[in-house]
Amino acid sequence: MKSDIQIANEAKIQPITDIGSKLGIDSKDLELYGNYKAKVPLNYIDPEKVKKNNLILVSAISPTPAGEGKTTISIGLSQGLNHIGADSSVVLREPSLGPVFGIKGGATGGGMSQVLPMEDINLHFTGDFAAIEKAHNLLAAMIDNAVQHRTLNIDPRTVLWKRVMDMNDRSLRNSIVGLGGRTSGFPRETGFDITAASEIMAILCLAEDFKDLKERIGNIFIGYTFDKKPVYARDLKAHGAMAALLRDAIKPNLVQTLENTPAFIHGGPFANIAQGTNSVIATKMGMSLSDYVVTEAGFGFDLGAEKFFDIKCQSSGLSPKAVVLVATARALKYHGGADLDKVNEPNMEALKAGISNLEKHLENIQAFNVCAVVAINKFATDTDEELEYIKKRTEDRGIKAVVADVWGQGGKGAEDLATEVKAVVDQCENKFKPMYDWEWDIPKKIETVAKNIYGAAAIDYTSRAKADLKKIKELGLDNLPVCIAKTQKSLSDNPKLIGRPKDFVVTVREIELSSGAGFVVPITGKIMRMPGLPKAPSAEKIDVDDDGNISGLF
Ligand code: ADP
Ligand code: MG
Repeated sequence: MKSDIQIANEAKIQPITDIGSKLGIDSKDLELYGNYKAKVPLNYIDPEKVKKNNLILVSAISPTPAGEGKTTISIGLSQGLNHIGADSSVVLREPSLGPVFGIKGGATGGGMSQVLPMEDINLHFTGDFAAIEKAHNLLAAMIDNAVQHRTLNIDPRTVLWKRVMDMNDRSLRNSIVGLGGRTSGFPRETGFDITAASEIMAILCLAEDFKDLKERIGNIFIGYTFDKKPVYARDLKAHGAMAALLRDAIKPNLVQTLENTPAFIHGGPFANIAQGTNSVIATKMGMSLSDYVVTEAGFGFDLGAEKFFDIKCQSSGLSPKAVVLVATARALKYHGGADLDKVNEPNMEALKAGISNLEKHLENIQAFNVCAVVAINKFATDTDEELEYIKKRTEDRGIKAVVADVWGQGGKGAEDLATEVKAVVDQCENKFKPMYDWEWDIPKKIETVAKNIYGAAAIDYTSRAKADLKKIKELGLDNLPVCIAKTQKSLSDNPKLIGRPKDFVVTVREIELSSGAGFVVPITGKIMRMPGLPKAPSAEKIDVDDDGNISGLF
């Protein structure tokens, strides 16, 4: 069987100017990065088209660590829509280098549903991550500089802003800066996060334009002065230069799929401590240039899609016409108690026990009042009996389920799915309703999400979380939405509770403030912001030959 990179190398890739002209973009306006990548200027966003055209959100049931194929289905569905004559593009996140070199698994799809050029997209791409890293680290440098020169009376013990780097490097997680005497700064404890976890990434992905970008950057909370007054990035006059570093990064990147379907790939914030989806700008760009735009929110619907609706849509005015929920037999068997290394074996008993996970996610979609289609992502090991069972249990709830083989067949394998999705989008008159009102107080917002979406019985706050609530209130930031950080492995906050857990209590350990991005982050478990590499990192297998051809990337 061919590897993803082999399939990608054999594809008939078109010049990006041709893809641009399919979308009606004048080749003079494309900002070219080589022959196959380009940035599109923001004046191609057309608010009227954004209002009129159709957004389709792909999310999933609670996934296994391997991923259930949201990106692959998103790409395949967009290709499938083009197959049936609907004008479609796909809008996705940019991959981080961390997972590329860590545990095998990229973010460019797989099999016959991939985006190209996959080596470029997985490695550096158009430099957006580098720009975000620099903007983030400029603020860190300006904070330590202000401490050195005592310009703002900043109490360095209250500063939470770290530095970032796009690499899995656990040794940098905790560090001390400022060693070396009077001329080398004030010693303080700090550390590094991975770039995808930077608040700048979250900001870039929610910003509407340059003005909004600058304003949000200025709103970043830094810490307190010695007399307990809050300090923001704007107090350091850092926001202008930071935004200047992002001048190109703010523009969405245009590439293509294996079948030359236009793909916008832009921004990649974490899905737990941030909103986890590509930029608002890229989504709006896609919707300005195509009738049917497919985008992805992960990990599962409970985490990614809830934030998509309650944060991204509420902030930007976007409103998806349908949700495509990706389900796999293997994940449902896992939720029914099958061992992870045995989920590829037929096991109807486990499937029947695990179907409750799918059912809860369907109820959640209905709670947002959006129309849904279930995409059963077909794996070669699935039996017909398993696929039929998932289909029947979904259709018992009045929702269509369609088996798609986008991995094996690309757009052709998604024609049935595309036909069903298009029918739902064209007929559905539902208007999504958010789970909560931003104006509610923070505990009420958390409780509403935890009870309605996760299925929790109650919420518990540690004393630290209670202190954080008080601090947020004092800062007057009670009206921000809640971006709850929770495990993706379970609907609950306990990764061991598979299936559809009931009667559990969600514990909020602390509440972080991302006032620049415009949300607070209630943390319900251990969140890793700087991952490490595994014992045998996939970097060991990546190589480049004498002609510059890359191998070993998936
Ligand atoms: P997600 O976006 O949900 O995390 P991806 O689409 O990135 O998942 O898929 C995760 C991995 O599984 C990728 O390596 C992809 O190639 C692979 N994959 C997805 N669907 C299939 C399938 N039907 N058969 C085999 N492999 C698949
Ligand atoms: Mg994905």
